[in-house]
Amino acid sequence: MASSAELHQRRSAAVARGVSSMIPSYVSTAGGGTMTDVDGREWIDFAAGIAVTNVGNAAPKVVEAVKAQVERFTHTCFMIAPYEQYVAVCEQLAELTPGDFEKRSALFNSGAEAVENAVKIARHATGRPAVVVFDHAYHGRTNLTMALTAKVMPYKQGFGPFAGEIYRVPMSYPLRDGRGGADAAAYAIGQIEKTVGASNVAAVLIEPIQGEGGFVVPAEGFLPALAAWSKAAGAVFIADEIQTGFCRTGEWFASSHEGVEPDLITTAKGIAGGLPLAAVTGRAEIMDSVHPGGLGGTYGGNPIACAAALASIETMRELDLAAAARHIESVARPRLEALAAKHPAIGEVRGRGAMLAVEVVIPGEDSAAGPAPDPVLTGAVAKAAHELGLLLLTCGTYGNVIRLLPPLIISDDELDRGLSLLEQAFSSI
Ligand SMILES: *Cc1c(COP(=O)(O)O)cnc(C)c1O
Repeated sequence: MASSAELHQRRSAAVARGVSSMIPSYVSTAGGGTMTDVDGREWIDFAAGIAVTNVGNAAPKVVEAVKAQVERFTHTCFMIAPYEQYVAVCEQLAELTPGDFEKRSALFNSGAEAVENAVKIARHATGRPAVVVFDHAYHGRTNLTMALTAKVMPYKQGFGPFAGEIYRVPMSYPLRDGRGGADAAAYAIGQIEKTVGASNVAAVLIEPIQGEGGFVVPAEGFLPALAAWSKAAGAVFIADEIQTGFCRTGEWFASSHEGVEPDLITTAKGIAGGLPLAAVTGRAEIMDSVHPGGLGGTYGGNPIACAAALASIETMRELDLAAAARHIESVARPRLEALAAKHPAIGEVRGRGAMLAVEVVIPGEDSAAGPAPDPVLTGAVAKAAHELGLLLLTCGTYGNVIRLLPPLIISDDELDRGLSLLEQAFSSI
């Protein structure tokens, strides 16, 4: 097998520079809570490929289902010749997503594509143009989703012009806005009413816990207030659960923590154990407002990806991975809080289930909104963690959040080793 150094050289001459990698090591195998690189080094996995391999890499049921499907047929295009696997995934989505009402789903390839389609559907159903999004939001990298995403560097810089009729309002961010949920919602709603106009709003689009934006958990009451306002305004409330979905936060979907029943939900990442699949699921009358042929795509709901999704969902049910996520929180949160007590640079520990983060700040220094972020220290800790063999991601508008996204099947021993490496990384800086 070629070494990472050799592969890196080949890469530099063949792969576009704009596609970058967090670590310089190339993967050989991965499974459980670990990954092994081509140089024979073992890593503890606190990334899960960005909250994708919730059931683990090469999860046994997923491998079996993919093999069986590949041997039967690989592609017909659901728009040409339909197949059961697509229908079965949509049935599962109707059952698992919050809300006891008639639902329909449409399947796509990537999260961004799901978000684009949710916006298309909301505009079609309402006959209105405007889409409301939030500070720190991340919804993807295609043209429409770049407009929906907040952060300019690296996602948007130089890639405009962007799509129109997108309006950004303040997000509830307890560490930085000091507002309760109802208060933050009233502020955001006031902005929507004054600057967009309730009757123009097709959709309010929000991540129930923000992912790339910094694992921001809105104050209690924020999400329900926005959902209620959307309903009264005749706007579609869309929860982007692409990162929070499929047991990650200790529930099947994060909207459930506050009893929110979104009109539409976008899913992707955790849905299919690593195969590319995404979905829009929601109220039948909204979804079915679109004329036949108005939604689709060549690969959307590919049979192999659907087979993987069905096996992943079965694994989540059998192993009760929502409970596993809560268990991960019960182990990791006290360790992170102890770490925060030791390092004043940790301004906050937050998150839900196996979606946990620490926000790194400059102790005693204030910014325009809350404690001054420390992206330099954050980067140094992440780099130290990588050198120690821990796959660890950062995020946040200010680049100062360290996030934990282990696969939900990680063992207690692997989790403990990963947390020890994180503690070591902090102490070494
Ligand atoms: C990752 C992500 C997306 C985009 O998904 P892709 O599959 O990368 O296109 C959209 N929304 C959220 C919340 C995400 O975390």
